[in-house]
Amino acid sequence: MLDIWYEIHYMAYKMTSRTNASEARQALRQLALKLPQVLQAAMSVRGEVMAASLSKTQKTCGKPNCKCARGQKHVVYQLSWTENGKRHSAHIKAGELNEIRAVVGRYRRLRQCRAELLKTASEGAALIDALIDALIVAAPGKTSGSKS
Ligand SMILES: [Zn+2]
Repeated sequence: MLDIWYEIHYMAYKMTSRTNASEARQALRQLALKLPQVLQAAMSVRGEVMAASLSKTQKTCGKPNCKCARGQKHVVYQLSWTENGKRHSAHIKAGELNEIRAVVGRYRRLRQCRAELLKTASEGAALIDALIDALIVAAPGKTSGSKS
């Protein structure tokens, strides 16, 4: 009676492991497709990069007769970056905007690729752990805690 119960239990366990292993493999297959895309995106970045961020703000200049005093505020682009742990910022002139936007944009894209790569690697490691859990068998020998 106990043997039959154990056998059913064991079969159910085996089926679950197979399902888990198959699911883990399937998810790993998805990652395998995603990985080259992430690397490709990083490789496709060409040109200089600047470790800074660009933000667009609106402000008033203080002149009473200016259009900004009537609600049409001036658009200002501000570049911010950190140097030796200190935060810096500077206004960007209209003539510099396109180039700054490009170098900052490339930096952001590379950082995003890097983050995506780490996330993919960590997901992959978790899936491999799941695969090991699903496939693992006990080493032979004198082990305690075996079912009797
Ligand atoms: Zn103004």
